[in-house]
Amino acid sequence: MKKTIKDYDLRGKKVIIRVDFNVPIENGKITDDSRIVGALDTIRYAKEKGAKVILMSHLGRVKEEADKEKHSLKIVCERLIKLLKDDVIFVESTRGEILENAINNLKDKEILLMENTRFEDIDGNRESGNDEELGKYWASLGDIFINDAFGVSHRKCASVVGIASNLKNGIGFLIEKELNSFKILDKPKRPYTIILGGAKVSDKIGVIDTLIKVCDYMLIGGAMSNTFMSALGYNVGESLVDEDYIDYAKELIKEYKDKIILPIDSIIEGCELKEYNEINNSDKCLDIGSKTIEKFKSILSISNTIVWNGPLGYFEKEEYSFGTYEILNYLSDKNKVVILGGGDTASAALNLGFKDKFTHISTGGGASLELLEGKELVGIDIIEEV
Ligand code: ADP
Ligand code: MG
Repeated sequence: MKKTIKDYDLRGKKVIIRVDFNVPIENGKITDDSRIVGALDTIRYAKEKGAKVILMSHLGRVKEEADKEKHSLKIVCERLIKLLKDDVIFVESTRGEILENAINNLKDKEILLMENTRFEDIDGNRESGNDEELGKYWASLGDIFINDAFGVSHRKCASVVGIASNLKNGIGFLIEKELNSFKILDKPKRPYTIILGGAKVSDKIGVIDTLIKVCDYMLIGGAMSNTFMSALGYNVGESLVDEDYIDYAKELIKEYKDKIILPIDSIIEGCELKEYNEINNSDKCLDIGSKTIEKFKSILSISNTIVWNGPLGYFEKEEYSFGTYEILNYLSDKNKVVILGGGDTASAALNLGFKDKFTHISTGGGASLELLEGKELVGIDIIEEV
């Protein structure tokens, strides 16, 4: 078991908390603050215990000076102040005297947010490349390091792996919750069903290969299913297909024919409902159809544990979000373990109104996929064991 923030006496200590404030911003406005909300418990706990709280996060990609303005954490700081209903000191630099003085002047229970860690990427990719000196330097600013940035824990960056290598450390409440949720899958109550959708087979090979072995059923929808339908010999017209993975799909269907459940019909561009044997060369399959929804529901009705990665249609357009919505809705009031992972899957569930309806909606896109693949995440692996 990993050490957590609760394993330390925080009173009077400078506690660096690596959070994931990498929120989507459009036209200067935060469009979804759930990642900030997700970090509040750990921040509040550290404050209550009398720590001097130092927050670090990345935001977007920063490759040159010109990227800085758009990627400042200042706007995140404003939202954090509102959500915490507390003061937060914002420091506009990622190293140097101003930062060091601000940290040394912190009183117990005060909270400071440092500017975007990726500002250090401009000259040599130091943050994202886990530069040794940078990790050591940031570690020197604190007494204890807490990783609560689940969304970047699969990446080897200085602000996670670098600091943790140089300072006593633990995980925060958000990562603890993520790990506990995925741990349920080590011994799933059966039948154990995977719902797979999304854009490409090639993105998900690791997930498919790992989960197909341990699951009882795998329901395949989304653009992903076009490749499988094509492997079965159906014409999928102009639909998105991973041509290079048709043979892979054929093999998988052959080996796991009792587990893999494929669509019967589809909503094609223009919103017409067609069965797969009716699809023309010019058609584009953009959502699962009503017979498929019923088929999927019948498998889900007998399942006890469900893991879902990948939307079942082009959900960003309302007219093709129905399949994803229907399955979310169906699962939302059932007494089953339902875990959602993947960036777009989480945003589909949240945007379609299913915020607190499931066992767990992971806050990490790539990180949750790597956990599903059974991989160790470097940023969690590095944390001390109890
Ligand atoms: P996640 O981020 O949850 O792992 P992916 O990134 O694999 O999911 O896939 C999400 C994308 O797949 C979305 O942008 C969605 O519009 C797209 N998608 C799903 N089904 C289709 C489809 N039938 N045709 C085109 N795009 C699709
Ligand atoms: Mg995605």
